[in-house]
Amino acid sequence: MLKLALGKVFSLRFLNSLTIMKKKVAPKINLNYLVFSIAIVVFILVEILFYQFYHYVPIKLNGKDLKAVRGETVENFLTRIKKMPKYGRLIDVEGKAIAGAKGEPPKIWVNNKFANPSYSVKNEDKIATQNGKDTKEEIKTALETVQSKIVYKGKGAFIYVIKRGRPGLKMVEKGQVSKKVVSDKWKLKPVDFTIGRINIRYRKVVALTFDDGPSKYTGQILKILKQYKAKASFFVVGRLVEKRAKLLKLMAGRGYTIGNHTYNHIPLNKNVPKKIKNELQKTKREIKKAAGIETKWVRPPWGLLNSSAINFVLKEKYHISLWNIDTSDWKRKSPRKIKEKVLNNLKSGQVILLHDGGGNRGNTVQALPQIIKGIKEAGYRLVSLEDMYRLVE
Ligand SMILES: [Zn+2]
Repeated sequence: MLKLALGKVFSLRFLNSLTIMKKKVAPKINLNYLVFSIAIVVFILVEILFYQFYHYVPIKLNGKDLKAVRGETVENFLTRIKKMPKYGRLIDVEGKAIAGAKGEPPKIWVNNKFANPSYSVKNEDKIATQNGKDTKEEIKTALETVQSKIVYKGKGAFIYVIKRGRPGLKMVEKGQVSKKVVSDKWKLKPVDFTIGRINIRYRKVVALTFDDGPSKYTGQILKILKQYKAKASFFVVGRLVEKRAKLLKLMAGRGYTIGNHTYNHIPLNKNVPKKIKNELQKTKREIKKAAGIETKWVRPPWGLLNSSAINFVLKEKYHISLWNIDTSDWKRKSPRKIKEKVLNNLKSGQVILLHDGGGNRGNTVQALPQIIKGIKEAGYRLVSLEDMYRLVE
């Protein structure tokens, strides 16, 4: 292209100068034009020669004669002529290529030596390339925890064990990239859990519980609870505690129950035993540091548990509290709707789920005085979860 364009310029200018020479007969003027035209022609010729003999260098690619731009990297050259060798594919345990994964890297040699893609091409270089070979993914064998099924009986807020289960252990051989299983063998078969869910219905008491705090709304909630002489329980997220440690101190001082809601608000049914233990223990320590108490209560985020979580919680002698009335305040329902959900479903011993954290809780704060008044007018007493347990004993 470049050669063609230069050629065109050259011939046009040359013709022009010839025409000028023909038309203008006066020798003085003609001489100037002639010198100028010749200079241009010489310049263009030099350019062409430069491009032909200096800018491009002859090389051999896999035995074929080609030209490369002097000094360009071998990678640039190969990419430009669309001959860059490719990575091999990574093949999974079923013999299929894994999308987005690479096998052996491609190889480039210059003059029979391995070359870096950044090598600068020189005159008469002999370049050879080879695509990377396909490689098989690594297979490893490891012991995996397999959760058992959890069968729930009843719909109460408190959990007790009817039949104790445990997770199983399986030796699994699998592809490390595709995660496809080659073989597996039971080391220990899982045993299903049977869990009872009960409510404490002996007295006319209900429990307000607040999850996902502490947050900037918690202080307002504590103020309202104090004003209406109502007790409550708080299931706190461990990582939020340090910033609002004073509020936890206040809760403990007023006899409210403080419970463990994991450190990062994780689903306990989808995590390995080590992570579950870590999340609950870190939160327990945060509560102890802030409020000076040993918490005995756990509420799993979203109410989700697996057999490892239940086993750990039982070992640590925690009580597990779920709930009976979900106000759906986390969906930012109107204060009126939050209040109605509570008051229309009141029964003895019920545990009510509200949130003091996890988002804008303005509506919860606004609904709270009406909820407390309504509960009291219906003849119920508001107690903490700890009090509820004590009342039954
Ligand atoms: Zn939560």
